[in-house]
Amino acid sequence: MKTNLWGMGLEELTVWVRNNNWPSFRAKQICDYLYKRHIISFDEMKQLPQIMRTWLEENACVEKPVIVNQISADDGKTTKILLKLKDGSLVETVCMHHEYGNSVCISTQVGCAMGCIFCASTQKGLFRNLSSEEMLAQLFAFSEVFNMPIHSIVLMGAGEPLQNYNHVIRFLHMANDKNLLNISYRNITVSTCGIVPQIYKLADEGLPITLAISLHAPNDVIRNELLPISRNYKIEDVIRAARYYFTKTKRRVTFEYILIQGKNTDKENAEELCRLVGKLPCHFNLIPVNGTEHIHLYPPDIKEIRSFQKILMDHGKETTVRKQMGDEIQAACGQLKRRFLENSKSVFR
Ligand code: SAH
Repeated sequence: MKTNLWGMGLEELTVWVRNNNWPSFRAKQICDYLYKRHIISFDEMKQLPQIMRTWLEENACVEKPVIVNQISADDGKTTKILLKLKDGSLVETVCMHHEYGNSVCISTQVGCAMGCIFCASTQKGLFRNLSSEEMLAQLFAFSEVFNMPIHSIVLMGAGEPLQNYNHVIRFLHMANDKNLLNISYRNITVSTCGIVPQIYKLADEGLPITLAISLHAPNDVIRNELLPISRNYKIEDVIRAARYYFTKTKRRVTFEYILIQGKNTDKENAEELCRLVGKLPCHFNLIPVNGTEHIHLYPPDIKEIRSFQKILMDHGKETTVRKQMGDEIQAACGQLKRRFLENSKSVFR
C-alpha cells in the first residue's frame, strides 16, 4: 500500500525517508514542496533526483482534500471554502480577513452529534471525526486560495472538537510546527459546547491556547432547551471547569452567548449570567443568532442587544458583539454546506 505523505510533519517525514534508505535532507525538500509551494505531484519536485521521484510514484501518494466550491462576501472579507474529502464527505472552512490578520475557522467533524437547536451542522447527526491531516488541509486550502499568512485559527466550525480529542491535539501541534504553519498557540482558540471532563484534560495539556465555551444561557433550564449536552453536565460544573482552565493556563476564557429573541436576552438573564461567572476572568462574545429557513430562531433588535451588553459591562465584564460577518454567504456553522447539498443532486454528505 502506498504511504500518504500528506499531513506528515518534518520529523515524521524524516523518519520515513530514512527508513526507506534515502538521505534525511530529502525530507525537508519534500516538506517545502508540499506545504510551502503546494506542489503535490512527485514529478514536479525537481530538486529530487529522478530515481527518487520514480520510487515515490510507486511507493507514496499525496491524498489531499480538494476545493469544490468557494464563495466570498463582505467585500471579500469573508470567504467560505468547501472541501471534498477522500470518502466524498464535505467540509466547510471559513476565512476571515481582519485588520490584525487572517483568521481561519476550522471544522473538526463531518456533521456533529451535539444536537444544539440553533446549529445547521448537527441536523443530520455525526457522520465521522476528521483526521488531523484533514484539519490541516483546511489551513492549506486557505494558503492555496489566498497565498497569505494565517494569523489565527479558531476551531469553531462544524463538529465538537473535544469529542475528537486526539486528532485535534495532534492537529494543533502540526499547525504550530515551524516547518508547517508556525502558528502561535496563543493565536489558537478551541470552542466547545462544554464537555466537562475534556476541558480538564485540555487544561492539563499545558498548551497556551484560548478556550471558548458555548454557554448560550445563564442557567440549566434555558441551557437544556438549547444544548442537549447540558443534560449531562450542569452549568455550574462547566463554570468550575472554566475556572480550572484559567488557573492552569492563565488564559482568559471566552464565553460564547448566542442571543435568541424571547429565549435568553432579558435583563434577568444578563444579571444571572454575571452572578454565574462571578470573578472569573473571562470575555463574553455575544452572537445574534443566525436563522435559516430550517431554524426558526430570531436575533433580538439592536436596542435589546445593547442593553444586554450594557448590563454585562456594568458588572465589569468584557464583551464584544460578534459582527455578522458572512451573513450573505451563510457562514454560521454548516449553513453553506446545507445550501450546497440542497442545490446539488450529488452524493455528497
Ligand atoms: N461544538 C463547538 C464548536 C462548533 S459551534 C461549540 O459548541 O462551541 C461554534 C459556534 O458556532 C457556536 O458557539 C456559535 O457561536 C456558532 N453558531 C452555530 N450556529 C449558529 C447560528 N445559527 N447562529 C449564530 N451562531 C451560530
